[in-house]
Amino acid sequence: AKMTRDEVLSQVDDLGVRFVLLWFTDIVGNIKSVMIPSSRLPAVIDNGIAFDGSAIEGFARVAESDMLLVPDLSTFAILPWNNDDHNRTARFICTIHTPDGEPFKGDPRYALQRAISAAEEMGFRYMTGMELEFFMFYTDDYGKPVLDAPQDNAAYFDLSNEPAQAVRRDMLSTLEGLHIGVDTAHSETGRGQHEIDIAYSEALVSADHLVTTRVALKTVAQQHRLHCTFMPRPMADMPGSGLHTHQSLHDLETGANVFFDPTHPYGLSETARYFLAGQLAHARAMCAILAPLVNSYKRLGTSFEAPVYVTWAHINRGALIRVPGVGEEHGEHTRLEMRCPDPSTNPYLAKAAMLMAGLEGIRQKLPLPEAREESLFARPSGRMRHVDILPSSLAEALEVMSTDDVVLNALGPYISDRYADAKHQEFDSYNEQITPWEIERYLNRF
Ligand code: GLU
Ligand code: MG
Ligand code: MG
Repeated sequence: AKMTRDEVLSQVDDLGVRFVLLWFTDIVGNIKSVMIPSSRLPAVIDNGIAFDGSAIEGFARVAESDMLLVPDLSTFAILPWNNDDHNRTARFICTIHTPDGEPFKGDPRYALQRAISAAEEMGFRYMTGMELEFFMFYTDDYGKPVLDAPQDNAAYFDLSNEPAQAVRRDMLSTLEGLHIGVDTAHSETGRGQHEIDIAYSEALVSADHLVTTRVALKTVAQQHRLHCTFMPRPMADMPGSGLHTHQSLHDLETGANVFFDPTHPYGLSETARYFLAGQLAHARAMCAILAPLVNSYKRLGTSFEAPVYVTWAHINRGALIRVPGVGEEHGEHTRLEMRCPDPSTNPYLAKAAMLMAGLEGIRQKLPLPEAREESLFARPSGRMRHVDILPSSLAEALEVMSTDDVVLNALGPYISDRYADAKHQEFDSYNEQITPWEIERYLNRF
């Protein structure tokens, strides 16, 4: 909700807030935080607070640079896990400014704000909702996760056990306390795997919600002596965790969903079809952002119900982009479900890239390939011909991204250069490892 400076300050007073956390994310999506006593808040709202801006460059940090953190007042929330009289803590999500008050081009949140402005210039508001999947493990006496001990054995939509229900209730009430809407929560396919569906909202709010939810779920799990992870594929014998992202464009003036056309067999307007075609065209390059870890490629293309091919469909879960519901039935709920993102992604960059790719499709009036409804999971020997497949490694995704101007421009040169550096370092470090699989497979045979 929009709040003025004075409204925020009187709330801080009335509620007896003692500490304030100023949050921002680095380019690879890690959350960062600066703590201030609440007495400093008025000055910080007026002038921002100086910090070392190089903290935002992920692993590719080079030189110190002075930047300002400026709290976005509309993100004011009390942290439900620090809400007793001694510890009451509020948090804001910040934008980052240069010392002369300009937005900092290294701020991922600003990259999304730029993409949102581009959509607004074309008359659109971009809305998203997310299916957040994650695993929970029991922890040992030192609080370390035990990979052999997933929290439950429940399968898809199983009721699971009371401890799982208890964690889920705490998660939902914690999110409610943070004003984050939840549609549903349920057990996912893997042992210890769960899903929480975060309600539809405007893209920037939605990205803020994802960042906050990741912190909230980890905190609640910890209170239950569990470890919650958004690692895309922690166990080889279990499916991975995705972050399916539902998206639609709405008329800026009326709020009407401009993706809906009841006369099209899939209920998709011309705008939706162009947008979809744009996302398909840039999907392989976007993977470097949407599936950002070495481990993301142990999910994409290889794990149960994760997409492989660059295709779209109605019910086919192997498709990259799904159109849930068809024809007249969906109306205002018409949306495109992008299935390659995983929950380790930086949501600001992810939404910026998805939006810019879709808008480019609209600008170029890109023709939409036919839907593919046949089963697409088979791989790799039974691979379909003449259909693009998603990158099979982070290195390949980075390679494709380096030639895709639409995705690079969505990030801007400052972020895309540093992002590529950080991710190449990550891949190189992985490549230096000699894995147990290699020893087993090669040591005796060669
Ligand atoms: N866990 C699957 C994935 O990695 C998705 C399962 C589902 O369709 O909800 O994307
Ligand atoms: Mg799911
Ligand atoms: Mg889904």
